[in-house]
Amino acid sequence: MSATDILDLSGAQAAAAIGAGTLSARELFDAYLVRARGDELNCFTWLAEQAPDDAAIAAGSAGPLKAVPLAVKDLFCTEGVPSQSGSRILEGYRPPYTATAVARLKDAGAALLGKTNQDEFAMGSSNENSAFGPVRNPWDRERVPGGSSGGSAAAVAAGLAPWALGTDTGGSIRQPAALCGIVGCKPTYGAISRYGMIAFASSLDQAGPLTRDVTDAALLLRHMVGRDPRDATSLEWVGEVALPRAERLDGVRLGVPRELTGEGIEGGVRDAFQATLARAEELGAQVRDVALAHAPHALSAYYVLAPAEASSNLARFDGVRYGLRAPEAHDLLDMYTRTRHDGFGAEVKRRIMLGTYALSAGYYDAYYGRAQRVRTKIAQDFAAAFAEVDLIVTPTSPTVAFRLGEKTRDPWAMYLNDFCTVPMSLAGIPAISIPCGLSGGLPVGFQIAGPPFSESRLLDAAHALERAIGFDGSPARARGAGAASESAP
Ligand code: GLN
Repeated sequence: MSATDILDLSGAQAAAAIGAGTLSARELFDAYLVRARGDELNCFTWLAEQAPDDAAIAAGSAGPLKAVPLAVKDLFCTEGVPSQSGSRILEGYRPPYTATAVARLKDAGAALLGKTNQDEFAMGSSNENSAFGPVRNPWDRERVPGGSSGGSAAAVAAGLAPWALGTDTGGSIRQPAALCGIVGCKPTYGAISRYGMIAFASSLDQAGPLTRDVTDAALLLRHMVGRDPRDATSLEWVGEVALPRAERLDGVRLGVPRELTGEGIEGGVRDAFQATLARAEELGAQVRDVALAHAPHALSAYYVLAPAEASSNLARFDGVRYGLRAPEAHDLLDMYTRTRHDGFGAEVKRRIMLGTYALSAGYYDAYYGRAQRVRTKIAQDFAAAFAEVDLIVTPTSPTVAFRLGEKTRDPWAMYLNDFCTVPMSLAGIPAISIPCGLSGGLPVGFQIAGPPFSESRLLDAAHALERAIGFDGSPARARGAGAASESAP
């Protein structure tokens, strides 16, 4: 196989080729390393120096993931490897342990290729909040890849990694997947252990895959899910995540919530969404309206709850325990203050202030308590809707990828990116984004959400649609690659 052929394989295909003896795991890893070293998109914050040694390749190849390289979002703790959550305050931090999600993939044979750039502490929708500089979108380098898992999404879309891990608190897997034209899945809250994920908002954070296709997403999920004694909120997974096979949607009832599909959705995105609904009907699905009355309030609730949790989670970064410590402080309080002043970026500071305020005595009920009640209403809306339909579909993001700098001065405009993804996060339910077409030459994402633990159904529906849509992600890979000429005709 030529280098280009190797890099065109999906993760599952590469694993199968290695298993069949037609591809060498080392050759594959080296090919990706060369590609990733030529990264012009700023996807990586750390790259492996070389392919794993023979013993590690042999051990990896013995597992189902066959030593296929994996890119991992910076915020997953990886033993001995920088894990900085996109922040100055953790610059150079090398944890003494590995996050469960990463450890499980490694046990299944995955080989760590690199750590990927992200918005600082996963706060953002454009990757512009990273202390390590923004990531560029392989479809148009003047545009953002989405966020906060922007490095993972851009790396997969540009063919710098076969697949990647991200995290999603309010949309950070699905939205960058949509903006980069790849697949991103946020599983049911609790499906994957959060142990070793540097926390943003603990009641919302979930790990998940960013992949070239739905089968790859299923395969990575399969090897991550399940209870972990180190995360009390993790849950038992019954059986095994099935690899999707469906080619039709006969009898599947798809609900379209008008609250998330009307106003605020860009024309080109709406067109691609409608065209995908028509395809779903051709495949046998029944499309009907469904009500999610409280969903329009999800963003407001999220921007109380997530900052509240973040303000508490980020209290640990005080210059004593990890990473940065401001020099020249004259006493302890001064050291805390200077460290946090120097170490946190503007968005993180904004969230800490918002969250601290929302939790302060006298305001707790007015803000946090009320937001929690809205959250409950949103979850109840979904539960009621799932009595009438099997799955709920929306555009993933109201717009296609926007220009770098376009929204940085207007936090609310930036927050609106997650209008369609935050409701599922608040309800704790699984959702996947698949590319469904282009608008103005840029990818559009189609989101499918289901009841808790309906991942197999969700993946099947996504698979059937993916086949029917036949989205071609390869132009992105050709354009985004360091060695672009390699893929030229
Ligand atoms: N963009 C949202 C935020 O800034 C969601 C981020 C995420 O899912 N981690 O909070």
